[in-house]
Amino acid sequence: MRRADRTIESMERYSALKLIKHGLSGNRHWSRAWRSPELKREYDVIVVGGGGHGLATAYYLAKNHGVKRVALIERGWLGGGNTGRNTTIVRSNYFYPASARLYDLALRLYEELGRDLNFNVMLSQRGMMFLAHSRHELEMQARSVNAMLVNGIEAKVLDAQQVRERAPLLNFSPEARFPIFGGFIQERGGIARHDAVAWGYARGASALGVDIFQNLEVTGFDIERGPGGRRVRGVETARGTVRADAVAVAVAGSSSVVMAKAGVRMPITSYALQAMVSEPVKPVLDTVVLSPATGTYVSQSDHGELVFGAGLDLYPSYAQRGNLPVLQNSVAGLLEMFPCFSRLKMMRKWAGCVDVVHDSSPIIGPTPVERLFLNCGWGTGGFKAIPAGGWLLAHVIATGRHHDISRPFDLDRFRTGALVDEAGAAGIPH
Ligand SMILES: Cc1cc2nc3c(=O)[nH]c(=O)nc-3n(C[C@H](O)[C@H](O)[C@H](O)COP(=O)(O)OP(=O)(O)OC[C@H]3O[C@@H](n4cnc5c(N)ncnc54)[C@H](O)[C@@H]3O)c2cc1C
Repeated sequence: MRRADRTIESMERYSALKLIKHGLSGNRHWSRAWRSPELKREYDVIVVGGGGHGLATAYYLAKNHGVKRVALIERGWLGGGNTGRNTTIVRSNYFYPASARLYDLALRLYEELGRDLNFNVMLSQRGMMFLAHSRHELEMQARSVNAMLVNGIEAKVLDAQQVRERAPLLNFSPEARFPIFGGFIQERGGIARHDAVAWGYARGASALGVDIFQNLEVTGFDIERGPGGRRVRGVETARGTVRADAVAVAVAGSSSVVMAKAGVRMPITSYALQAMVSEPVKPVLDTVVLSPATGTYVSQSDHGELVFGAGLDLYPSYAQRGNLPVLQNSVAGLLEMFPCFSRLKMMRKWAGCVDVVHDSSPIIGPTPVERLFLNCGWGTGGFKAIPAGGWLLAHVIATGRHHDISRPFDLDRFRTGALVDEAGAAGIPH
């Protein structure tokens, strides 16, 4: 049964009136955002990983495909992985047609997400501006913008004066180590609130009947060997084996470790990726700025903090903490762009464990184990893709075939060699 237009009936709808009503009674009577159900012995689909991609997969399985018995199992707390640690940039300005289609589906879903989930995901399409620090870089960016326009993604090249109008605090000194020659912008790019995306999907999924379990690790898979090959029958947890017709794994930096338990070797390397925030200040920056030459990018949060980061730590790691030299590089890159920020105090820094694939494109779809599916490989840039990652994986699981948009991102591309090499084309993080 399909129920694409099914509304989320069982949940208390949030509205301005509800805010006033609950405010008057001391905010003591809000209903829980999601249920705490009993773990059943069997489900139609089990989703492993309660980050944005796992939650969105569970939500769209129930909403778009009417799958009734879905469980989501998270070893920590919802959004406690990269989803709750990222710098929240959303954009779809990729180079290759396959990537443009994927990330623009995500951005279009983001544009409707607040209404769809009845949860304010604080999408702020304030524009995402890339800087060019040489004439050569500007020419390469013009090439990228042309590719985006051909792919139907709006973007425009900016000269130095237009960049200055968008971000007057940037360093335009002739002595700057990274002089600004211009850049390009995607006006629909911007930021969204990471926790809200995770919680909104969790609340929506729970209301549609998805059972969500936190603090429960998947420790292995129940795999049956038959004449047709290996087929997944469920997962193992500290609370016993839970059977399922299909299992979807969306565990980001843990993908190679978790998939090894199913006997599948992954083309993924895990690294720490760090970010940090300054003390809050009054509004000084109303667009997202990225300098590909230094790898540093920055935006200002609604609290007023400057949120920034740069590239990966230099060696593979499963730790959710990073090292000092990379932090120093990020701060140096920020101050090359905005010397006046040198007077700000830093408040916090943190890291996530990201799943990097050599062509910098995600993996969505089936695995060599029948009915075992994957959503991973988002590396430094999967927050922006959460709605599409979930939508497309739900489609593959429910229909047994790829959606046109997810087909190029099948794991099989590492056998056929048909890579989507955004690492070489767009070549930028986040
Ligand atoms: C510092 C930083 C900045 C970033 N900035 C951006 C950005 O600006 N824009 C952007 O688009 N992307 C950004 N990203 C990348 C983005 O955060 C990730 O690609 C995205 O959040 C991945 O979502 P996910 O659901 O796949 O993974 P996660 O959110 O990491 O979720 C995976 C979950 O799986 C769980 N898990 C692991 N093993 C098991 C197990 N055995 N059993 C059960 N559960 C398990 C984990 O606990 C975790 O909660 C950034 C990442 C970091 C770290």
